[in-house]
Amino acid sequence: MSTDRIEAAIAELALHFGDRLSRNMSVRELHAHGEGYHAQHFPHAVVFAESTDEVSTALKICNAHRAPVIAFGGGTSLEGQLNAVAGGISVDLSRMTAVLEVNVGDLDCRVQAGVTRQALNAYLRDEGLFFPVDPGGEATIGGMCATRASGTGAVRYGTIRENVLGLTVVLADGRVMRVGRRVRKSAMGYDLTHLMIGSEGTLGLITEVQLRLHGIPEMMAAAVCQFETLADCVETAVQVMQMGVPIGRMELLDDVQMDACIAYSKLEGYRSVPTMFFEFAGGPASVREHIETVEAIVAENNGSAFQWSTQFEERAALWKARHAVYWACLAYRPGYTGISTDAVVPISALTDMILGAKSDIEASGITAPIVGHIGDGNFHTVMLVPPGADGIEKAHELDRKLIARALSLGGSASGEHGVGLAKMEFMADEHDEVALDIMRTIKKALDPNNILNPGKMLPPLAS
Ligand SMILES: Cc1cc2nc3c(=O)[nH]c(=O)nc-3n(C[C@H](O)[C@H](O)[C@H](O)COP(=O)(O)OP(=O)(O)OC[C@H]3O[C@@H](n4cnc5c(N)ncnc54)[C@H](O)[C@@H]3O)c2cc1C
Repeated sequence: MSTDRIEAAIAELALHFGDRLSRNMSVRELHAHGEGYHAQHFPHAVVFAESTDEVSTALKICNAHRAPVIAFGGGTSLEGQLNAVAGGISVDLSRMTAVLEVNVGDLDCRVQAGVTRQALNAYLRDEGLFFPVDPGGEATIGGMCATRASGTGAVRYGTIRENVLGLTVVLADGRVMRVGRRVRKSAMGYDLTHLMIGSEGTLGLITEVQLRLHGIPEMMAAAVCQFETLADCVETAVQVMQMGVPIGRMELLDDVQMDACIAYSKLEGYRSVPTMFFEFAGGPASVREHIETVEAIVAENNGSAFQWSTQFEERAALWKARHAVYWACLAYRPGYTGISTDAVVPISALTDMILGAKSDIEASGITAPIVGHIGDGNFHTVMLVPPGADGIEKAHELDRKLIARALSLGGSASGEHGVGLAKMEFMADEHDEVALDIMRTIKKALDPNNILNPGKMLPPLAS
């Protein structure tokens, strides 16, 4: 990519953005990476956009000069999505934080892309509504759309994909596209809304999002249950899903992950054994019924009695500990590099997958706690690699093994963290030639000059 073209774009952008364009090294450094372990790649400049029009202006300029553009939301992605591998301009949308409308009667709202889920939920609380997609970090709604994120609530409420009704998107040439309507369903034309979900800034920049909302349940109760074996713990999750219990949340932590969480989040009264965190939500009668069903399944699988957290503060502390597992893992081996994995399999394959993963991890000699949004068939490890020569390569070997296992069981190489740089090598394992060809055709149609997050998502064609 020619630096002259990028410099020409920056000169023109400076006329529009003034002091909201930065070439400061520390600002560029902050925009050179996400939260993953990848070596950083600096953009040449960062612009802070405050409206759809400004994003459109930035893209018109960058497209005219063929300068790469990397959208930046909360900076929490884990797979190298933000790295400016070809340099260029980071367009930071985190200042676009307006909640534009809330339609209480229709349970929907429209927000600018830089709103975080935490800020949105604080805004909605007095309306008795909430937005359920909850990745662990301070992610933005735009970034969550771009990575097709999910979290602990997906087992009940779906991922971001199921909770987005429409989008405003700025295309590579600066045109503004509005897709989707304020309705639960529509059969009108190609589904461009969901084409953008998971496109990681390679097809357009999302500036506004129409979201589905949900009523805050009348009753919520969280429980922890511990098991002597990982097999019993996984089998419990499988049976809960197969029985069709509409569980609020269901998260698995293996013995090593529990050990890390007990130390990091000061969880008291628990042992370092395979553990399940449950949440039940709904009206009192249905919650009671779900609890009885799950308790029976747990008992059949030799689980402990439930340890209950019914008070708001206790529940919040439990889920805060769950959301902090990544940091708990990093603190478990100070100075080590943490490399997260993110595979997903059909529910019926979970036992094979998780027990197989555990034996792969043990055979590798790498410390790698397992945690899972188990009701979705999705689990992570954070492979903890000591400083030194071949640690990262050994972790990659283990990751490849886990992904090969997931794919062989009908699963996917990423449940929620996305492709970025890290998962590009698996695109051809997961998608056939025709599918990859169609993806390349779409990319070319929407971004003919390849300015949007170049070098990501689609593996280069073999020459
Ligand atoms: C502690 C921790 C826990 C996590 N837990 C989860 C989890 O449970 N579930 C989960 O799904 N993820 C999880 N993640 C990963 C991360 O939070 C998600 O990938 C999140 O959706 C990224 O959002 P972001 O705003 O930080 O995006 P960024 O990291 O800023 O960007 C991610 C990608 O999206 C693009 N992008 C950003 N904004 C836009 C936009 N407006 N328009 C177009 N493209 C855009 C960027 O160019 C980049 O390619 C976790 C991360 C951490 C650090």
